[in-house]
Amino acid sequence: MENYRPTKASVNLQAIQENIENLKRYLPRQTSVIAVVKADGYGHGEVEVARAAIAAGARMVSVATPDEALHLRDSGITADILVMGLSPVGFAERAATLGIHVAVSDAGWLRQAANLVKEADRPLRVHVKIDSGMGRIGLRDETALQDIVEVIEGSNNIRLVGAFTHFACADEEDSCETEEQFNRFMELVAEFPQRPPLVHASNSAAALLYPQYALDAVRFGISLYGIAPSSYVGTKLPFDLKKAFTLETELAYVKKLGKGERISYGGTYETKRDEWIGTLPIGYADGLKRGLRDQDVLIGGERMPIVGTICMDQCMVKLPREFAAGEKVTLIGRQGDKEITMEEWADRLGTIPYEVAVTIGKRVPRIY
Ligand SMILES: *Cc1c(COP(=O)(O)O)cnc(C)c1O
Repeated sequence: MENYRPTKASVNLQAIQENIENLKRYLPRQTSVIAVVKADGYGHGEVEVARAAIAAGARMVSVATPDEALHLRDSGITADILVMGLSPVGFAERAATLGIHVAVSDAGWLRQAANLVKEADRPLRVHVKIDSGMGRIGLRDETALQDIVEVIEGSNNIRLVGAFTHFACADEEDSCETEEQFNRFMELVAEFPQRPPLVHASNSAAALLYPQYALDAVRFGISLYGIAPSSYVGTKLPFDLKKAFTLETELAYVKKLGKGERISYGGTYETKRDEWIGTLPIGYADGLKRGLRDQDVLIGGERMPIVGTICMDQCMVKLPREFAAGEKVTLIGRQGDKEITMEEWADRLGTIPYEVAVTIGKRVPRIY
């Protein structure tokens, strides 16, 4: 792809690998790491991140949807892939053939799947999803679990690989809910006639704060990319997380305006005196949401604010003095000792860094 526009995201795969290596060093030896690369690797690029994560020692990767898993397979990722969300039963045969593991919450679904994969050349690998308190997907009681076990035992081509649950509040200071969920999960896991080989519960927050819940594997998502799941977890990190994502562009145009000139749609910003105004070739179609007006960017190692309404493809910044067109602009990342993080954007937008990460537009090329 040609990149005439200087707007680009640099993804540091080595940072991702260091986060995995540090996590592995921190967790019990028998715990493996499942690298979560859903939503295009939290906006970082699922294929490149999956490849780097496996090379750094992740045991498998996980995604949210069947299509994400197929995209990884088509792109040459040969590692085990878990689809954590529920798949339509029509996906079962392809999942079996391609070695894609699926989540199962329901005996009826599994019975149909068992029928579809009877003749498949490889067994369908399943992880039983248990709802221990998230209230999203997963079976909730012993009877439902026994029904699923019965289907597995009666089928020639279903292999029980795992059991998992998902924490709702592991990133919060109060640990009670997480402890309750863990206990509930283990109670249900104990109902299997044989413990599945891969029992896993923890997301990033739990992996970092509760190594005692690490079990056979952790599903490491947001912190794989160097981002703390919440500001609370950020204050309790057992090791430094390395940020992988930098969003950069260049000053496209620079001009000096006199006092009282209006900037951008609606004319909502008015110069108060002579001001240098720079134009950046990035806008809300790239994920620079309109709510980020007044957010700082870094130019020449200094912070300076976006002024006026952010347009679809461009925005303006107020420069403290003249800069040349072509000067590097960092929107997320570091210049010298100054840093702008996804967390800072998230605070301004009233959201979480997860949402910022997946909102950076497809139009922004990722450079590795
Ligand atoms: C997204 C997701 C994860 C990863 O969560 P992080 O907080 O990003 O680490 C783990 N498990 C499930 C089921 C998920 O949907």
